Amino acid sequence: MKRKQETVIVCSAHSDDFVLGAGGTIANYTAEGKKVIAIVFSYGEKSHPWLKESVIQKMRSKEALEASKILNCQTYVYDLKELKFLDEYKEKKIDTILLDLIKKEKPVKIFTHSSEDPHPDHRAVHKITLEVYGRSKLKPELYTYSIWNPVSFKTAYPSLYVNITPTFKTKLAALRTFRSQTIHVAYPFFLLLYRAIRHGFKLRTWFGEQFFRIR
Ligand SMILES: [Zn+2]
Repeated sequence: MKRKQETVIVCSAHSDDFVLGAGGTIANYTAEGKKVIAIVFSYGEKSHPWLKESVIQKMRSKEALEASKILNCQTYVYDLKELKFLDEYKEKKIDTILLDLIKKEKPVKIFTHSSEDPHPDHRAVHKITLEVYGRSKLKPELYTYSIWNPVSFKTAYPSLYVNITPTFKTKLAALRTFRSQTIHVAYPFFLLLYRAIRHGFKLRTWFGEQFFRIR
Protein backbone atom coordinates (compact mmCIF):
# COMPACT_ATOMS: atom_id res chain seq x y z
CA MET A 1 0.00 0.00 0.00
CA LYS A 2 1.23 3.46 -0.85
CA ARG A 3 1.94 5.66 2.14
CA LYS A 4 0.32 9.06 2.20
CA GLN A 5 2.63 11.71 0.76
CA GLU A 6 3.96 13.96 3.53
CA THR A 7 3.61 17.71 3.10
CA VAL A 8 5.93 20.44 4.37
CA ILE A 9 5.23 24.19 4.30
CA VAL A 10 7.99 26.82 4.21
CA CYS A 11 7.03 30.44 4.96
CA SER A 12 9.24 33.07 3.38
CA ALA A 13 9.03 36.87 3.45
CA HIS A 14 10.66 37.45 0.06
CA SER A 15 11.00 35.32 -3.01
CA ASP A 16 14.51 34.07 -2.23
CA ASP A 17 14.33 33.49 1.54
CA PHE A 18 13.05 29.94 1.36
CA VAL A 19 15.96 29.06 -0.93
CA LEU A 20 18.59 30.80 1.21
CA GLY A 21 17.27 29.38 4.48
CA ALA A 22 16.05 25.93 3.54
CA GLY A 23 16.80 25.28 -0.14
CA GLY A 24 18.92 22.17 0.46
CA THR A 25 16.38 20.69 2.84
CA ILE A 26 13.54 21.39 0.41
CA ALA A 27 15.46 19.64 -2.39
CA ASN A 28 16.10 16.68 -0.05
CA TYR A 29 12.45 16.43 0.90
CA THR A 30 11.12 16.60 -2.65
CA ALA A 31 13.71 14.00 -3.74
CA GLU A 32 12.29 11.75 -1.00
CA GLY A 33 8.82 12.21 -2.49
CA LYS A 34 7.53 14.75 0.01
CA LYS A 35 5.39 17.63 -1.17
CA VAL A 36 6.87 21.03 -0.28
CA ILE A 37 4.87 24.25 -0.52
CA ALA A 38 6.77 27.54 -0.28
CA ILE A 39 4.75 30.59 0.71
CA VAL A 40 6.24 33.90 -0.39
CA PHE A 41 4.54 36.77 1.43
CA SER A 42 5.69 39.61 -0.82
CA TYR A 43 6.75 40.21 -4.38
CA GLY A 44 9.36 42.63 -3.03
CA GLU A 45 8.43 45.68 -5.10
CA LYS A 46 10.76 47.91 -3.14
CA SER A 47 13.84 46.28 -4.61
CA HIS A 48 13.47 48.26 -7.84
CA PRO A 49 11.76 51.56 -7.03
CA TRP A 50 12.34 52.82 -10.59
CA LEU A 51 10.32 50.03 -12.22
CA LYS A 52 6.57 49.72 -12.33
CA GLU A 53 5.24 47.47 -9.59
CA SER A 54 3.51 45.17 -12.03
CA VAL A 55 6.76 44.65 -13.93
CA ILE A 56 8.62 43.74 -10.76
CA GLN A 57 5.86 41.43 -9.57
CA LYS A 58 6.05 39.53 -12.83
CA MET A 59 9.84 39.37 -12.74
CA ARG A 60 10.07 38.32 -9.10
CA SER A 61 7.36 35.72 -9.24
CA LYS A 62 8.90 34.30 -12.40
CA GLU A 63 12.22 33.93 -10.58
CA ALA A 64 10.59 32.36 -7.55
CA LEU A 65 8.82 29.88 -9.81
CA GLU A 66 12.07 29.07 -11.62
CA ALA A 67 13.77 28.41 -8.28
CA SER A 68 10.82 26.26 -7.20
CA LYS A 69 11.13 24.24 -10.37
CA ILE A 70 14.76 23.50 -9.56
CA LEU A 71 13.89 22.52 -5.97
CA ASN A 72 10.80 20.70 -7.19
CA CYS A 73 8.46 22.49 -4.79
CA GLN A 74 5.24 24.44 -5.26
CA THR A 75 5.22 28.16 -4.59
CA TYR A 76 2.44 30.60 -3.78
CA VAL A 77 3.24 34.29 -3.87
CA TYR A 78 1.10 36.64 -1.75
CA ASP A 79 0.77 40.32 -2.26
CA LEU A 80 1.87 42.02 0.97
CA LYS A 81 3.78 45.28 0.70
CA GLU A 82 7.27 45.20 2.14
CA LEU A 83 7.51 46.63 5.68
CA LYS A 84 3.69 46.59 5.84
CA PHE A 85 3.10 42.87 6.50
CA LEU A 86 1.62 43.31 9.98
CA ASP A 87 -0.65 46.16 8.82
CA GLU A 88 -1.93 44.30 5.79
CA TYR A 89 -2.12 40.58 6.42
CA LYS A 90 -5.51 40.55 8.14
CA GLU A 91 -7.04 42.97 5.69
CA LYS A 92 -5.81 40.81 2.80
CA LYS A 93 -6.95 37.67 4.65
CA ILE A 94 -3.53 36.04 4.53
CA ASP A 95 -4.13 34.52 7.99
CA THR A 96 -7.32 32.79 6.82
CA ILE A 97 -5.65 31.65 3.61
CA LEU A 98 -2.77 30.13 5.59
CA LEU A 99 -5.09 28.52 8.10
CA ASP A 100 -7.12 26.93 5.30
CA LEU A 101 -3.93 25.75 3.62
CA ILE A 102 -2.78 24.01 6.83
CA LYS A 103 -6.22 22.43 7.21
CA LYS A 104 -6.21 21.20 3.62
CA GLU A 105 -2.59 20.08 3.28
CA LYS A 106 -2.05 18.76 6.83
CA PRO A 107 1.70 19.46 6.83
CA VAL A 108 3.95 17.43 9.12
CA LYS A 109 6.38 20.32 9.41
CA ILE A 110 6.23 24.10 8.98
CA PHE A 111 9.34 26.24 8.59
CA THR A 112 9.37 29.99 9.15
CA HIS A 113 11.73 32.89 9.81
CA SER A 114 13.45 33.30 13.15
CA SER A 115 12.21 35.89 15.65
CA GLU A 116 15.87 36.85 16.06
CA ASP A 117 16.20 37.93 12.45
CA PRO A 118 16.79 41.70 12.34
CA HIS A 119 14.89 42.18 9.04
CA PRO A 120 11.42 43.56 9.93
CA ASP A 121 9.64 41.55 7.19
CA HIS A 122 11.28 38.35 8.41
CA ARG A 123 10.19 39.04 11.99
CA ALA A 124 6.70 39.86 10.74
CA VAL A 125 6.46 36.49 8.98
CA HIS A 126 7.58 34.81 12.21
CA LYS A 127 4.79 36.62 14.09
CA ILE A 128 2.13 35.84 11.48
CA THR A 129 3.12 32.16 11.35
CA LEU A 130 2.93 31.87 15.15
CA GLU A 131 -0.43 33.62 15.24
CA VAL A 132 -1.87 31.30 12.59
CA TYR A 133 -0.25 28.28 14.27
CA GLY A 134 -1.92 29.25 17.54
CA ARG A 135 -5.32 29.25 15.83
CA SER A 136 -4.72 26.00 13.93
CA LYS A 137 -6.21 22.78 15.30
CA LEU A 138 -3.41 20.82 13.66
CA LYS A 139 -0.07 21.26 15.38
CA PRO A 140 2.70 20.16 13.04
CA GLU A 141 6.34 20.50 14.08
CA LEU A 142 7.30 24.18 13.78
CA TYR A 143 10.87 25.19 12.90
CA THR A 144 12.70 28.45 12.29
CA TYR A 145 15.50 29.15 9.86
CA SER A 146 17.99 32.01 9.90
CA ILE A 147 18.80 34.56 7.22
CA TRP A 148 20.22 37.70 8.79
CA ASN A 149 20.62 36.66 12.41
CA PRO A 150 24.05 36.91 13.91
CA VAL A 151 26.05 33.75 13.33
CA SER A 152 26.68 33.39 17.04
CA PHE A 153 22.93 32.99 17.63
CA LYS A 154 22.29 30.75 20.61
CA THR A 155 18.99 29.27 21.64
CA ALA A 156 17.50 26.83 24.11
CA TYR A 157 15.38 25.27 21.35
CA PRO A 158 16.49 21.91 19.98
CA SER A 159 18.28 21.99 16.65
CA LEU A 160 17.44 20.04 13.55
CA TYR A 161 20.49 19.54 11.33
CA VAL A 162 19.88 18.38 7.79
CA ASN A 163 22.64 16.95 5.61
CA ILE A 164 22.45 18.92 2.36
CA THR A 165 25.68 17.63 0.83
CA PRO A 166 23.73 15.83 -1.92
CA THR A 167 21.59 18.90 -2.71
CA PHE A 168 23.95 21.83 -2.05
CA LYS A 169 24.55 22.27 -5.77
CA THR A 170 20.80 22.33 -6.38
CA LYS A 171 20.43 25.02 -3.72
CA LEU A 172 23.08 27.16 -5.43
CA ALA A 173 21.44 26.61 -8.82
CA ALA A 174 18.10 27.74 -7.37
CA LEU A 175 19.74 30.83 -5.88
CA ARG A 176 21.17 31.78 -9.24
CA THR A 177 17.66 32.26 -10.63
CA PHE A 178 17.24 35.46 -8.61
CA ARG A 179 18.78 37.76 -11.16
CA SER A 180 16.61 40.79 -10.32
CA GLN A 181 17.50 40.82 -6.65
CA THR A 182 19.29 43.77 -5.20
CA ILE A 183 18.75 43.08 -1.51
CA HIS A 184 19.62 39.46 -1.18
CA VAL A 185 22.06 39.10 -4.01
CA ALA A 186 24.05 41.12 -1.54
CA TYR A 187 23.77 38.12 0.75
CA PRO A 188 27.36 37.28 1.32
CA PHE A 189 28.28 34.06 -0.37
CA PHE A 190 30.93 33.37 2.26
CA LEU A 191 28.23 33.50 4.94
CA LEU A 192 26.13 31.01 3.02
CA LEU A 193 29.12 28.75 2.60
CA TYR A 194 30.37 29.26 6.17
CA ARG A 195 26.98 28.30 7.58
CA ALA A 196 26.59 25.29 5.31
CA ILE A 197 30.02 24.01 6.33
CA ARG A 198 29.53 24.80 10.03
CA HIS A 199 26.21 22.98 10.09
CA GLY A 200 27.59 20.18 7.96
CA PHE A 201 30.40 19.73 10.48
CA LYS A 202 27.83 18.85 13.15
CA LEU A 203 26.78 15.94 10.97
CA ARG A 204 30.35 15.06 9.98
CA THR A 205 29.53 15.88 6.39
CA TRP A 206 30.35 18.75 3.99
CA PHE A 207 27.21 20.85 3.96
CA GLY A 208 24.24 21.21 6.28
CA GLU A 209 21.29 23.41 7.19
CA GLN A 210 20.24 24.12 10.75
CA PHE A 211 16.76 24.78 12.09
CA PHE A 212 15.36 25.32 15.56
CA ARG A 213 12.25 23.51 16.63
CA ILE A 214 10.14 26.05 18.50
CA ARG A 215 6.87 24.08 18.81
ZN1 LIG B 1 13.96 38.32 2.94
